[in-house]
Amino acid sequence: MRVLIVEDNPELVSLLIKGLGQGGLSADSVGTVGDAQHVLATMKYAAIVLDLGLPDEDGLTLLRELRRRGDSTPVLVLTARDGVTDRVTGLREGADDYLPKPFAMEELVARLQALLRRPGNLLGRLLTFGNVALDTDGRQVFVNGTPRAFPARETAVLEILLRRGGNVAPKRLFEDHLFGLSGDVGSNAVEVYIHRLRKMLGDAGASVKIHTVRGVGYLMAEEKAPG
Ligand code: CA
Repeated sequence: MRVLIVEDNPELVSLLIKGLGQGGLSADSVGTVGDAQHVLATMKYAAIVLDLGLPDEDGLTLLRELRRRGDSTPVLVLTARDGVTDRVTGLREGADDYLPKPFAMEELVARLQALLRRPGNLLGRLLTFGNVALDTDGRQVFVNGTPRAFPARETAVLEILLRRGGNVAPKRLFEDHLFGLSGDVGSNAVEVYIHRLRKMLGDAGASVKIHTVRGVGYLMAEEKAPG
């Protein structure tokens, strides 16, 4: 599987190529949005590692353009430390994950591998898991085919879980999403919304459950049918 690195720092690029190689991933690299557009016009990559601070344009321009034309290649965004706004914007524009710089190469490789393991049915606009589905354009949740009125924050939490496709979603992903929706969320906000979402899914007859991975985050798993 081949990954495209869009990063203008040559030292970081060599480290990335080396690190990805050790993780069994080969990579090409470009240093500008323009070059990335050029390469992506003819090549299909398994995933893209995207820096936001590029010399010609903002990396988000590229991300936005990919998603606008329905390209669902997983994108992992590299952001400056403390760039909460960048992260939130990136996730809203369709990034699948992000890592603040500086990061540990092992973590980057692990995150990319998680994105690459994601089942194909999670790519695109309708995210599904078990009998739960989310239309990410209309923000409509379905359980067993029936539309359900879930509030915006519970829907945002559900979307993160669905995008991870059964892999653990780190708690900070939820925090960024919730902070992005409103500046005023308490320190236990994630727990509160997970709790509400669990209840709503349970009441609606969902075949999936949200499990807590202590100290890490949350994941979704399918429940076995009774009997
Ligand atoms: Ca840069």
